[in-house]
Amino acid sequence: MSLGRARGAMCGMEHVSEIKAVRERVAAARRSGRRIGLVPTMGYLHAGHMSLVEASVADGLYTVVSIFVNPTQFGPNDDLDRYPRDTEGDLKKCADAGVELVFLPAGDEMYRPDASTSVQVRKLTDTLCGPARPGHFDGVATVVTKLFNIVQPDRAYFGQKDFQQLAVIRRMVRDLDMPVEVVGCPIVRQPDGLAMSSRNVLLNGDEHGRALRLHEALCHARDRIGVGERDPVTLTTEMLDILAAAEPRGIDYVSIVDPETLQPVLRIERAVLIALAVRLGPTRLIDNMVVDPHAAGT
Ligand code: AMP
Repeated sequence: MSLGRARGAMCGMEHVSEIKAVRERVAAARRSGRRIGLVPTMGYLHAGHMSLVEASVADGLYTVVSIFVNPTQFGPNDDLDRYPRDTEGDLKKCADAGVELVFLPAGDEMYRPDASTSVQVRKLTDTLCGPARPGHFDGVATVVTKLFNIVQPDRAYFGQKDFQQLAVIRRMVRDLDMPVEVVGCPIVRQPDGLAMSSRNVLLNGDEHGRALRLHEALCHARDRIGVGERDPVTLTTEMLDILAAAEPRGIDYVSIVDPETLQPVLRIERAVLIALAVRLGPTRLIDNMVVDPHAAGT
C-alpha cells in the first residue's frame, strides 16, 4: 500500500506508507499556510490515543498520526509478536476524528538494515521502566527523532499515561534543540478506572478484574497523602499490599518520585509522581498519578 484515501466523515484523509509521500503532503499543507501536529502511536487506537488527536485537531493543526509498532523499543522477551493491530479500524477512527494524514510505514521504510545511529537519553531512563526494559527508551527516542525529522511538526502530542516517555522526549527536545513543542495530555481511563491501553485487549476477563487494583493502589496513595501521610515507604508498602491482591506475576516497581528528575523522594513535600508497573499473566501494565500534597481536594 503506498497511498490511499480513506472514505468516511472526513473524506480528505490520506494514508501513506513512504517517507517521501509524507514530506510531500506536509510541504503542501505548509504552503497553504497550515501548521503541523503529530501524534505518534503504535496503533490499535483507543480513546486515549484519540484524546491526543482531538487536541491537535482542536488546535487547528494539519494533524498527522503515525502508526508504527516500533520493533527497536521491544526487548527480546517483550510482546512485539502479540501486540494488537487493526489498521482498518484505526484509519476509520482517524478519518472520523479529522486527521488529515496517517503515516503507516513498514519496518524497512523506517530502518535500513545497516542503520548505525540511535538516540540515547541518560539519567531519566535509569529509573522506573528503564531497568526492566533495557534499550526501550533508546528505541523510543530514536523513532520519535526520526518521526520528528520526517514530519517536522510544530507540535507533537504525547500521553501522560507514559509519563517517563513524555519526560524523556521533553528532555531530548530540549537537549538537542529540536524545533517542536511537546504537548502532554492527561491519562484517559475506562469508567472502572483502568487506564486505557492497547494492551488491555490482551487481558482475559479475570486479569481485567485484577488489573483494577493498579488504579485502586494509586487512588489509595493519593487519598493517604490527602489526609497527611508524607512517608513514601509507608505508602509504597500499602500500595504493594493492594497490588498483591491482583496476584501479579511480578511487580517491576512501585515508586514515588520527583516528576522532573524521576528520582525517588525521601519525603512528600511537593507534587510527586506515583508510578507502577505490574505484570499480569504475560501482559505488563503501567499506570501513574501526579499528586500534589498542597492541592485542594488532595
Ligand atoms: P502507544 O500507541 O501505546 O505508543 O501510545 C501512543 C500515545 O498515546 C503515547 O503518547 C501514549 O502516552 C498515549 N496514550 C496511550 N494510552 C493513553 C491513555 N490512556 N491516555 C492518554 N494517552 C494515552
